[in-house]
Amino acid sequence: MKISILTLFPEMFTGVFQQSILKQAQDRGVITYDVKNFREYTKDKHNRVDDYPYGGGGGMVLTPQPLFDAVEATKTNNDSEKPPRIVLLCPQGDRYDQKKAEEFAQEDHLILICGHYEGYDERIREHLITDEVSIGDYVLTGGEIGAMVITDSVTRLLPGALGNDTSAITDSYSTGLLEYPHYTRPKEFKGYKVPDVLMSGHHGKIDEWRREQALKRTYERRPDLLEEVELSDKDQKYLSTLQSKTKK
Ligand code: SAM
Repeated sequence: MKISILTLFPEMFTGVFQQSILKQAQDRGVITYDVKNFREYTKDKHNRVDDYPYGGGGGMVLTPQPLFDAVEATKTNNDSEKPPRIVLLCPQGDRYDQKKAEEFAQEDHLILICGHYEGYDERIREHLITDEVSIGDYVLTGGEIGAMVITDSVTRLLPGALGNDTSAITDSYSTGLLEYPHYTRPKEFKGYKVPDVLMSGHHGKIDEWRREQALKRTYERRPDLLEEVELSDKDQKYLSTLQSKTKK
C-alpha cells in the first residue's frame, strides 16, 4: 500500500513516520509514505497557493490549481491499476472511525490532502476528491495531524505491520466492542491483585472472562456500540444480568 500526503508542512511528518510501528512497517515493505509539498506545483510567479476569498471576509483560501496539479502528478506515480482514494481532511467531512480505517486499509493508494488557513476553494471539494473526512468535531489549524491519525490507524491494520497481527483484531472497535482489560506482572501490586482466572491456564475460561469484560466495559462506557454489534444468546444473557444489577 502507498499513502501520499499533500501538505504545505512536510517536515511535520518526519518524526512521526520515523518512529515505532510506522517506521517498522516501512522497513518491512508493508507500506510506503510519500509526503509532498504541494507548493511545488503552483504556477503563481510568487509561489503562492492561497488567495483572498471572493466576497470578502477573513482568512485565506487555498487555490485550486496547485492541488489539482499535485494530485494529477501523484496519481500518475501510482503503480496500481486501482484508482486512488483522494481524501480531503476537513472538519465538515464524514467522521473518521475504525470502520473507515478498515475500508481505507483495503485500498492500494490513498492521497491525503491537508488544508490550512480558512480552507479550500469549493471546486477542490466538488471536482477533485473522492472522500471528505473529519477526525472529530473541533477545528485544527491544519490537516496534518488528521493525516497522521489516518496514516497510523490504517498502517496498523495492514498484515505484517504489527509484531503480532492478532493485536489489531481484538482492539477496541475492531470487534465492535471496547477491548477487555489487560494485566501483566506482578501478580500483586500494592495489594491490588490480578484476577485469578487470567493465571488459571484455562483458555476457555479466559476467553469467556474477556468476552464478558468487553461487554461490561462497552455497556458502561459506550452502550451505543452494542446496538451495532452481533451478540450471541450467551452475550445477551450476560448483558441482561448486568442491566438488572445496574437497575437495583
Ligand atoms: N474554515 C474551515 C471551517 O470552518 O470548516 C476550517 C479550516 S481549518 C482552520 C484549516 C484546515 O485544517 C482544514 O482545511 C482541514 O484541512 C484541517 N482541519 C481542521 N479541523 C479538522 C478536523 N476536525 N478534521 C480534519 N481536518 C481538519
